[in-house]
Amino acid sequence: MSDSKSKKGILFVISGPSGTGKGTVCEELLKTEELFLSVSATTREKRKGETDGVTYNYLYREEFEALIDAGEMLEYAVYNGNYYGTPKRNVEKMLDAGKNVLLEIEPQGALNIKGQFPEAVLIFILPPSMAELRERLRGRGRENEEQIEERLRAAHWEIEQAPKYSYLVINDALDECVSEVAGIIRGVTEKRGLIHKLLTEQN
Ligand code: 5GP
Repeated sequence: MSDSKSKKGILFVISGPSGTGKGTVCEELLKTEELFLSVSATTREKRKGETDGVTYNYLYREEFEALIDAGEMLEYAVYNGNYYGTPKRNVEKMLDAGKNVLLEIEPQGALNIKGQFPEAVLIFILPPSMAELRERLRGRGRENEEQIEERLRAAHWEIEQAPKYSYLVINDALDECVSEVAGIIRGVTEKRGLIHKLLTEQN
């Protein structure tokens, strides 16, 4: 099959400020949608309840930098002093095999991906208000007040990037947010399928 005929997978990228609930949204999507979630690498410390190789691949700074130098990272960013990045190999393998891939990454990385893959679909999850975001960060009890303030400052910059995304979804009620994002993913997959069919149809 020639390149133009083989159907590549679609790259879906989900971003949103810390505390906005995007992790839960992604977990829910994986239950119903045919998506392969890329496991990121990070230099941040493993939190309670997280699993190495599942939540993230936890690396030392030197290991992470060696991967960057070897060109093994599709994208990476520094968020609150730690590296976070998407290892290239698996994502490319899945896309080449026609599988849809989901990246849950922050906006520097997402916009970098958009530069490399203009056909990627970027979805931004917005919190209903800053007050609600602060409450959610406090409620999950993972960070201290200083770290919460840092995350809120980062959130401000992240929300400024949101208009550059293809789709904006508000996470006010989780169920509604999940079904809206699932609808976007299904709609895009269906229409991309049609585009492929139109372009490969015999005249
Ligand atoms: P957390 O420390 O809360 O797990 O993640 C902090 C931020 O890093 C979140 O916004 C998350 O989406 C983002 N992130 C996670 N993995 C990656 C990645 O591979 N690349 C980039 N650019 N950001 C990531």
